[in-house]
Amino acid sequence: MEQLPSTDPIDRQARPAGDEPATASLYVHIPWCLSKCPYCDFNSHAARTWPEAEYADAIVRELRHRSRERGFSGRRFATVFFGGGTPSLFEPRTIGRILDRVAEDPGLEAGAEITLEANPGTVNEGRLRDFRSVGVNRLSYGIQSFQPDLLLALGRRHSVDDSRGALVAARRAGFANLSLDLIFAVPGQSIESCEADLDEAVSFETEHVSAYALTFEPGTAFHRDRSAGRVRQAPEDLEVAMFELVRARLSAAGLPAYEISNFARPGFEARHNQAYWRGVPYLGLGAGAHSFAPGDGRPPGAGFGCRRENVRDPGRWMAAVVESGSGVVETEELGRREAMGETCWLSLRETRGLDPAAFRTRFGEDFATAFPHVPDLVADGLVAWQQGRLVLTARGLLLADAVFSTFL
Ligand code: SF4
Repeated sequence: MEQLPSTDPIDRQARPAGDEPATASLYVHIPWCLSKCPYCDFNSHAARTWPEAEYADAIVRELRHRSRERGFSGRRFATVFFGGGTPSLFEPRTIGRILDRVAEDPGLEAGAEITLEANPGTVNEGRLRDFRSVGVNRLSYGIQSFQPDLLLALGRRHSVDDSRGALVAARRAGFANLSLDLIFAVPGQSIESCEADLDEAVSFETEHVSAYALTFEPGTAFHRDRSAGRVRQAPEDLEVAMFELVRARLSAAGLPAYEISNFARPGFEARHNQAYWRGVPYLGLGAGAHSFAPGDGRPPGAGFGCRRENVRDPGRWMAAVVESGSGVVETEELGRREAMGETCWLSLRETRGLDPAAFRTRFGEDFATAFPHVPDLVADGLVAWQQGRLVLTARGLLLADAVFSTFL
C-alpha cells in the first residue's frame, strides 16, 4: 500500500520567528455545489452550471501573482487542498491544469500531499482514475452518515449507496489515502445510530476520519429552523456521549485522535490540516479563500505574520483577479501577543499539545511568563502536562473553546 511520507518539515512551533521553512501549503477553493445543505456556512453556492474554465484561469492568474508576494516567494508547496464547495464537480482535466501550473511555478515538493474534497454522488471509478492520473493522491469524502434518515435530515443529495460505491471505487481507482467526514449529534440521531455510522465507517478501512458534532451556525437554514422551533438540537449529554463514543471507537479501530475532530492511522494524519494548526504559511486561492503569510518577527515591519481574505462572491473574485491578479479584500497583520495566543490554542487542538521549549524559541519568552493563568487551568482539570507538553484533558476536550479563549 502506497504511503505518503510522514514528514514534519514545516512545524513553526519549533523555529524562531523569521526562520521560516522553504515550503508552504496551498488551498484552492471551488465554491459551487449542486444544492446548499441546511447546516452549511461555507462559502458555497448552489448551481447547475458554473464557469469552470474562467474560474480555473483566474486561479492560475492569482497563483502567478500571489505566489510572488512577501512570505511566499521562493517557496514550493508541500500540500495542496482543493476544498469547497464541491471540487469533485470540476473536470479532472481542470484540476490537472491547475496542478500543472503549480508544479511549473512555484513548484511542488516531492511526495506532496494533494487532496480533493469529493461528494460521493459526483464520482465514479473512471472519474476517480482521472483525478488520480492528474496528481490527486488523497480523497476526502463528505459521507456525513450511513443512515438514510440522517442524510435526509442533513439535506444531503447523495444516498448511502452512493457513499458505499464511492468508497469502493476510490480503492479500485488506486487511492491509498482516503478520508471520510462524519457528522454526529444530528437532530433525532440516537447513540445506536451513531454507533452504526462508526461501525460502517471503520469497515471501509479508510486511513483518516474527520468527525464533527453538528453546529447551528448563524445564517444557515438550520439556525433559522432551530430558532423557529422546527428543528431540535441534540441534548448536550447525548452529544457528549457521542463525542466520547467516536473517540473510543475510532481509536480501537486503529485511528487514534491526533486532533479534536480528526483521526488517522499512524502516518496518515492530514499534513495540510497540520500545516494550519502549526502556523505554516498557506496561500489560499479562489473565492473567499484565506491565506497566512509569515512575518519576520521583527516589528515594526512584517511583524508575526499576515492574514488575508479573498472576496467571497465568485463573480466578484474573478473580476478582481482579472483586474489586478489578486482577489484579496482584507489584510490583517498579526502582533506578537496575538501570534503567541494563536500558537497556544492551535497547538492545543492537536493531541501532541504545546511544546513550551519551542514556544520560547519562537517568541523569546517563557510560556509560563506569557500565560501565568495556565496553573489555574491545570488545577481546574482542563489541561495537563504530559511528557513536557501541555495537552487538553478529557474534560478540556469538552470545553475546548472556553480553554482556547483564555489565550486570546
Ligand atoms: S456539499 Fe458541503 S460545501 Fe456544499 S453545501 Fe453541502 S456542506 Fe456545504
